[in-house]
Amino acid sequence: MKLHEINQAPFIREMCEATSQLWNYGWAERNGGNISYRLPQEEVKYYLNTDQVKKIVALDFTVKSLAGEIFLVSGSGKYFKNIQKNPADSLAIIRINAEGDHYELLWGLEGGDLPTSELASHLQCHAVRIAHDPEHRVILHTHATAISAMTFIHELDEKKFTKTLWQMITECLVVFPDGVSVLPWMVAGTSKLGAASAEKMNDSRIVIWPHHGIMGAGQTMDDAFGLVETAEKAAKIYLQICSTRQEIKQQITDQQLLDLAAEFHVKPKDGILKGKGSQDD
Ligand code: 13P
Ligand code: ZN
Repeated sequence: MKLHEINQAPFIREMCEATSQLWNYGWAERNGGNISYRLPQEEVKYYLNTDQVKKIVALDFTVKSLAGEIFLVSGSGKYFKNIQKNPADSLAIIRINAEGDHYELLWGLEGGDLPTSELASHLQCHAVRIAHDPEHRVILHTHATAISAMTFIHELDEKKFTKTLWQMITECLVVFPDGVSVLPWMVAGTSKLGAASAEKMNDSRIVIWPHHGIMGAGQTMDDAFGLVETAEKAAKIYLQICSTRQEIKQQITDQQLLDLAAEFHVKPKDGILKGKGSQDD
């Protein structure tokens, strides 16, 4: 079969668009942020001979449930503003081996670099999200400015953090009824951070890393991006309110959020809202 030009593949184009958009938003300073995109094997085969493995690399964790899965991932140290100029230097297509303890490099990172240093978080989060939702595909980590700023002045209790975000924009509850999870501060790029993030991904598709950034999971690039964008916009409003130093005179009540959830047929994460229709009433 004649292979198609890989730079024209929809998944490469989407990755280029998303990474430049993240840079445009100011959330991807230098090499900040990373993305991984689970690719359907049938689609990859149009662009790549998947029998040709360039390199096999050991993982310092095991993700048995991802055996045979193929991911497009951003490279470590790569500047998101530059990815679209040379995708083959900045991105990698990797496949997880049958034991789930190595990855095979199938394409990319032509300069010999490594996939993102947050690979442990990405792969472990993928494993958890796929178990919840077979259509899951994208994990996106970015240094979203307002969310990071909020982690300095808001309590890190995840229920309180979720409720504050839900109260900032009416549609937050509809976009992330599962709320946000918040980890304690942890060292970046470790499999410990990966395991902790993955554990949180059982409960919500957004995990906040205090004083660092955010992880979002989605079925598509737009889905993961939209989730992060919405949380970030809510955080921005929160910071603007704080900066006015004015007392809040009115806000969305618990009952109004519950009414909204009923109208949109979403189930708000338990233990946050009180009122008629709440699990906790
Ligand atoms: P990488 O360049 O290794 O992806 O790291 C960037 C980052 O955001 C670490 O958390
Ligand atoms: Zn980061």
